[in-house]
Amino acid sequence: MYVYADNAATTALSPKALEAMLPYLQGEYGNASSLHSVGQRAAEALQKARDTVAEVIHADPKEIYFTGGGSEADNQAILSGAMAGARKGKKHLISTAFEHHAVLHTLKKLESQGFEVTLLDVHKNGVVSAEEVAAAIRPDTALVTIMFVNNEIGTIQPIGEIAKVCREKGVLFHTDAVQAVGHLPVDVQALGVDMLSMAAHKFHGPKGVGALYVRRGVPVVNVIEGGQQERGKRGGTENIAGIVGMAAALKEAVTDLEGHMAYVTGLREKLITGLTQIPHSCLNGDREKRVPGTVNLCFEGIEGEGLLLWLDAKGVAASSGSACTSGSLDPSHVLLALGLPHEIAHGSLRLSVDAWNTEEEVDHILQVVPEVVKYLRDMSPVWDELERGEATHLI
Ligand SMILES: *Cc1c(COP(=O)(O)O)cnc(C)c1O
Repeated sequence: MYVYADNAATTALSPKALEAMLPYLQGEYGNASSLHSVGQRAAEALQKARDTVAEVIHADPKEIYFTGGGSEADNQAILSGAMAGARKGKKHLISTAFEHHAVLHTLKKLESQGFEVTLLDVHKNGVVSAEEVAAAIRPDTALVTIMFVNNEIGTIQPIGEIAKVCREKGVLFHTDAVQAVGHLPVDVQALGVDMLSMAAHKFHGPKGVGALYVRRGVPVVNVIEGGQQERGKRGGTENIAGIVGMAAALKEAVTDLEGHMAYVTGLREKLITGLTQIPHSCLNGDREKRVPGTVNLCFEGIEGEGLLLWLDAKGVAASSGSACTSGSLDPSHVLLALGLPHEIAHGSLRLSVDAWNTEEEVDHILQVVPEVVKYLRDMSPVWDELERGEATHLI
């Protein structure tokens, strides 16, 4: 059995999404900007997809801008908020220490251009508080950007409360909802957010396509100059097949969302209950305030990288959430933001399941992870020292 438990990294393309996309990869190859009927059929498909995405998040279709994925939507939102502020002399931005790099690196770039950035503490449980957001807002704050669901540990942030605080203080609020859309109810009206990012491949849509919601009246800057596509805010011929696939996948994901959430929460609870029985392990992030499918654990005395390779060999695709794979030996910035010591953060494991996973698959994970952890600990000099009492257990 091989279990894919890395849905927070990307998901399999849904057959329904593929079916919706196929005509636009074959006969319907029109350019939506063309005046002839071939092009107009593409334009109609584009409009239908925009209507669907808008309807799901309770937005107006004119408030949806399709992008080339979640990272682009984050970049566009943050640059839009920053530029709108700068025009009024406001150059202060607020975010958190455990955002996705699409947000953190965009903020870094703005910092080098004269903006000042405040990164809020996410505490040991991985949840920011609306009160702390309120306390950080200054007269020169242009934008607050805080993720809806953290991609490594799965914790949910109080987005509605933060949006309320921002609105009361007249500050724009963006949320990176890439891990929330398709997994939790997301209603931009009820939440009161000004901007929200999503990515199709995190809910069984195709890769390289996403969307940014921008509330009417909030000025949008374009990150890609070109033609008049996306009402002049994103130049370039639209990825019709991708956009159509995204709308189909989103519609499917939110059909019986409540049922899916209950089912996936059940899988997650089983994972947490089973895996926290491993001695000297800990669950990262708040026990309750988490998205249905994401679990992140640390196991003392082992390296996340070795764990992942052995799990893969034993039929489980997971992630460590650490940046080791990108050639750096630094542990995950998310786990460090929670205050975990480096030694512990190195032994992390993220399992992300969703409605496509089965009970049998979870049972397989519950059998394999303890075996691999034991095997790696038996070989680990660090674990040996701990066992012989030459070092003290941190967890
Ligand atoms: C995946 C992800 C992104 C990036 O989306 P891409 O479509 O891969 O560019 C941004 N933010 C979060 C929270 C994510 O999980």
